[in-house]
Amino acid sequence: METERAGEPAGVVCPGCGGVEVRTVEEARGGKGAMREDLHGRLEPGPNKSGDGCLHFVEGMVLTGLGIALAYMGVEEDKPLYTVGGVVLALICLFGTFAVVRSDGREKFAAEAGQARAERLWKPARYCYGCTSVFCPGGTPWQGVLTPEQFKKLVWTEAGYADQLQPGDKAKDAELPANVLQERS
Ligand SMILES: [Zn+2]
Repeated sequence: METERAGEPAGVVCPGCGGVEVRTVEEARGGKGAMREDLHGRLEPGPNKSGDGCLHFVEGMVLTGLGIALAYMGVEEDKPLYTVGGVVLALICLFGTFAVVRSDGREKFAAEAGQARAERLWKPARYCYGCTSVFCPGGTPWQGVLTPEQFKKLVWTEAGYADQLQPGDKAKDAELPANVLQERS
C-alpha cells in the first residue's frame, strides 16, 4: 500500500540533506542497519500491547487465592487474625487486579482507537539514511524534517497515546517544532 499521492516512488529526495537513499519508515524499520540504529523501536507507530492484561489477571487471581487460602486456614485453625488478614489480602488483590486490568484495557483501547490517525501520519513518512531523519515527500500530511524521536512523538501525540511512551524512550522528551502539521481543510 503505497501513498496515493502521485508520482514519486522513484526519486524522492530528502529535503534535509538532498540525499536520495530514502525508504518508507515501514521499510526502514526492517531494513539495513535497523538493528544497530534500533529503528524498529524508534520508528514504532504505536504501543505494542499484546496480552499483558491477561497475564496481570492471572497474577492477581493467584494472589487473591493465597488470601482466600489464608482466611480459610484461619477458620480451620481458629485463628481470627489469619482470617481477617486473609480476607483483607484477598480483597486488596481482587480490586487491585481489576484496576490494573482495566488500565491495561484502557491503554489498549486508546492504542486501537488512535491507530488510523497514527497511520495517516506514519505511512507516508520516509526515513533518510543520509542524515537519519524523517520527512514526508511533498510536505504532506506533515512538513519539515524531524528526528526519529520527534517523528515518533508527533505520531503518538496525534494518535492520542503519547502518555504511553515508556520512561527512557527519548521520544517522550522530544520537542516538536511549531507548524509541523499544516493547516488542512
Ligand atoms: Zn537526509
